Amino acid sequence: MADYIYTMEIRLTPDQQKGVTLVQDIARAAGMNVYLTGGTIRDIISGYTIRDLDFTVQGNPLRLQKELERAGAAISDADDDFNSLYLILPGNVRAEISMARTERYEKTGKPPVIAPASMVEDLRRRDFTVNAMALSLNPGSRGLLMDPFNGVADIEAKLLRILHNYAFVEDPSRLIRATRFVARFHWPLEERTQARFNSAKENNYIEYITNRAIGYEIEQIAYEDDPLHIVRALEKEEWLKVLHPHWTTAKVDAAGLSALMKSRQQMNELGYSPDPAPAVLYFLTDRLGDKDVADIRKLIPRKDLIESWRDLDNNAKELAKKLTGKEAATPSRTWKVLSEARPEMVLFLSVTSRQQAVQQKIKNFFTKWRQVQQRIPLPEMTELLITPQLLSYPKIAHDVFMLLLDGKLRSRNEILKFLKPFAPPPPPPPPPPTKRGRAAKAGGGGNGAAAAAALVKGKKKGKTENAPVVATVAQSQPGKAPAAQPQKSPGTAKSHPAAVLAKAPPPPAKAHPAASGKNHKPKAKPEAKSKKPGKPVSKSKRRR
Ligand code: ATP
Repeated sequence: MADYIYTMEIRLTPDQQKGVTLVQDIARAAGMNVYLTGGTIRDIISGYTIRDLDFTVQGNPLRLQKELERAGAAISDADDDFNSLYLILPGNVRAEISMARTERYEKTGKPPVIAPASMVEDLRRRDFTVNAMALSLNPGSRGLLMDPFNGVADIEAKLLRILHNYAFVEDPSRLIRATRFVARFHWPLEERTQARFNSAKENNYIEYITNRAIGYEIEQIAYEDDPLHIVRALEKEEWLKVLHPHWTTAKVDAAGLSALMKSRQQMNELGYSPDPAPAVLYFLTDRLGDKDVADIRKLIPRKDLIESWRDLDNNAKELAKKLTGKEAATPSRTWKVLSEARPEMVLFLSVTSRQQAVQQKIKNFFTKWRQVQQRIPLPEMTELLITPQLLSYPKIAHDVFMLLLDGKLRSRNEILKFLKPFAPPPPPPPPPPTKRGRAAKAGGGGNGAAAAAALVKGKKKGKTENAPVVATVAQSQPGKAPAAQPQKSPGTAKSHPAAVLAKAPPPPAKAHPAASGKNHKPKAKPEAKSKKPGKPVSKSKRRR
């Protein structure tokens, strides 16, 4: 049996993995069975980008709200009709938790009657076989894949297949979903599914789509990796006008959208994960009238998405003002302003600002200034024992970076002058070796196997006072000569300054020791003591 937990773990981003653990633990603590479901499983198995986490619990997820919020999740929307929670987990991870349910459609165009159900029953209400799978996150069955419609086979065949003949009649929004998935994955509809699709289209079942489904589908376009491609496909099938009668591709700012997606890609590569959805909606509806935009906003279920979209212009203006004012007068201050700004705003401003100064600063932030990290004086820092093991290391590395950005710390002297006050005192020498047993009686110094071996080596050559012993002992005593300390290579250190600076926000500011009067100058190097070798050890003693 395939190990789906392993596949899941290697396919999810670290933040998504943490999100899975968080929801799993909270659901379990509330006594609910929890599964990873729908598009998440499809994307894990097929290798496509995992855009969001779909969870299904046996029970009402609205009961988990408080615990989720306490764990750092932000609730975007809570749907009382379907008992679904939409949330943003730490790290900007989008997630949905739904109640396992059955759906009974009594009349086309009317919302289904829902009832709590088991996980397998829930899978029967889904749209396509590739979306009708669940992975258990429960103790005892963790990793078990439930795939009653053989979705894995359809993923392998790259086919979209509905679960039953009435799929498009029951819920015509599945027609739009079908077109969206065909366009995204380039997987065709399976033959009978295509026939049902054509027939539903001919019979104009789409007119029965609910406003809720329209809003949900508009929102989904905003999370697509290539939204323009999807909008074109929807227009071709005549679904775009179903989402809004005035919406056409001519109303889209295609150039702005393409620049946005490029900038987002660049930010992703640098480790930022801005949510592009508000800006995507901004460009997709750029040439629609205000009233049309207001109508679309009313349909979208996620209130936080509408707010972010509505506030884009104002927030961008505010950030631009900061970037052209005193607050960003130097490169280091600009770095601070941009590091502290919401990534969504930096993304939006990077493509909408017409001010040369703003454009240039954002460009430097993403390119030129990052290269300054290569100039962090690692040899000098290592020389002064300022290594990642120090608690204050991230702060020191950050301050050095800020000074380098502003063109300070040009010479080695300047670098050393700045760093010296931060250098820790060298570690104390180890206690003198204790004399034990026969070695002690023999007065041999008992300085371990290395010394003994060195002595024996010397004896073999007919030398009792030998240099190798002195060298071995000196090396085994850290602190004697700091330059000879075994240092962790800065290149392999866990928290390399480049890593510290690339993303992590600066640690709380501390006064420079020089300023606070505390001088942590490294102590003068103690003289290396010469060590006399002990008495040679006999062969029989060595064997013990
Ligand atoms: P995406 O990658 O676009 O998020 P998704 O498959 O995850 O795709 P969602 O809209 O997030 O789509 O829905 C999550 C799951 O809920 C789907 O995979 C599917 O199982 C189910 N679902 C969503 N909408 C419908 C629908 N209209 N009819 C039946 N099942 C649906």
